[in-house]
Formats: sequence, structure tokens, C-alpha cells
Amino acid sequence: MFSIPDALDQVSSAIQNAANRVGRNPNEITLVAASKTTTLDQVKEAEKWGVRIFGENRVQEGIAKFLESNFIKSIDALHLIGPLQSNKIKKAVGFFDLIHSVDSLKLAEKINREAERQSIMQSILIEVNIGGEESKNGVSIKETSILVKAIQPLTHLSLLGLMTLPPATENPEEARPYFSTLRHMGNDLGLDRFSMGMSSDFEVAIEEGATWLRLGTALFGRRNH
Ligand SMILES: *Cc1c(COP(=O)(O)O)cnc(C)c1O
Repeated sequence: MFSIPDALDQVSSAIQNAANRVGRNPNEITLVAASKTTTLDQVKEAEKWGVRIFGENRVQEGIAKFLESNFIKSIDALHLIGPLQSNKIKKAVGFFDLIHSVDSLKLAEKINREAERQSIMQSILIEVNIGGEESKNGVSIKETSILVKAIQPLTHLSLLGLMTLPPATENPEEARPYFSTLRHMGNDLGLDRFSMGMSSDFEVAIEEGATWLRLGTALFGRRNH
């Protein structure tokens, strides 16, 4: 039977081993539990066994789940890992500690304006569509440096790094060149933190420099939908 503590044990040792293989300090790798479609009981169980940071895909679902019984107070941070629609900006800014999915200047400006209104700094990542896929969100590789520079003057945004979801593949090795490209792009732009790696490919992502792993299935088991 699937058990969250067993899953966490396995994930933790896989993180250690992958970091060791490339001489990285495992402490610079942060686990973000991708908790979309999970219940409050599941996230509470994960928290009980030591998960400190959660990532939700939908603003509404994240707010509803984590505000219930004030569970948000028990964790270190809640991230938004899915796309952010304009009409959800007011709710998302200030609630999510890190927004992974900024992919246009227009969106960045709107987040900045709301953060200014709330007198806070909002931490963000730029999502890069690393495979150039029609179906995916994210800014193209070509436009990434333009977006990074355009965001710099926005006084209420703190740009921490880049995020990506590579094309789905059977073999995690096929994701390696995408992760490597993201890191090199970031480094060239003076960024050194990367949200990359999911349940199927996080070990490769660690080897290529991931600093946040977004893991759902590996921690909570298969989703029903
Ligand atoms: C669901 C999701 C994940 C986690 O996916 P798993 O394969 O279950 O680990 C990571 N990132 C994003 C953006 C997601 O939507």
C-alpha cells in the first residue's frame, strides 16, 4: 500500500544520492510538494512527516485547501506552480510565497502593481517553454533574456530564478538537455536558482542544477485525475 512516509524516505535518499553523484550539497535542493488534487488530510500527513513547502496549481484550490483550519500557518511556504490568470492576481499575490509561472511582461507588471498596493515584495520565477511546445505556457528561449531585463525595474518583484516543464518523455535522460539549457540560460543572465524536475525526472534535474523540485506522484501516489 502507498504510504507517504515511505515515499518521503525514498525521495529523500534519491535526492541525497543524486546530489552526491555530482558533488552538490543536498541542502541547496528544496522539495516542493505538488499537492494539486490532494486532500487536506494528505497534505497534513506530508507535513507531519516533514514536508515544509507545498505547491498548488490553482489559486482557488490552493487558497481553499490551505486556509482550511488555518493549515497555512503550519507550513514554511506555499508556492503557485500552475499558470496565473489575470483575474486571480489579487488573490494570489501575497498569499503564495513564490509564483513559478510568470511568462510575460504584462503579467509581471500586474503582479508588481498588486504587490505595490499591498506594500510587499512578491517573489517570482520566470517560466520558460524550453521545448517550444504549442501546448505549454512559458516564455520562449529567445525572449527570456528580454523578459528578465524588463522585469528588473519592477520594484515590488523579486526575481529568484527560472522554472520549466520539459516535453514529456518516457526516459528521464531525454529531459537532461532541457534542464542543462535552462541552467546555462539562467547563469548567463545572472540567475542561479531553478525550479525543474518532477517525479519522473527529478534525479536528472538535480544533476543539472535544480534547486526546487516539484514532486507530486512520488510523494502522494498516483492522482485519480
Ligand atoms: C503536477 C505538477 C507537478 C508534479 O508532477 P508529478 O509528475 O506528479 O511529480 C510539477 N509541476 C507542475 C507544474 C505540475 O502541474
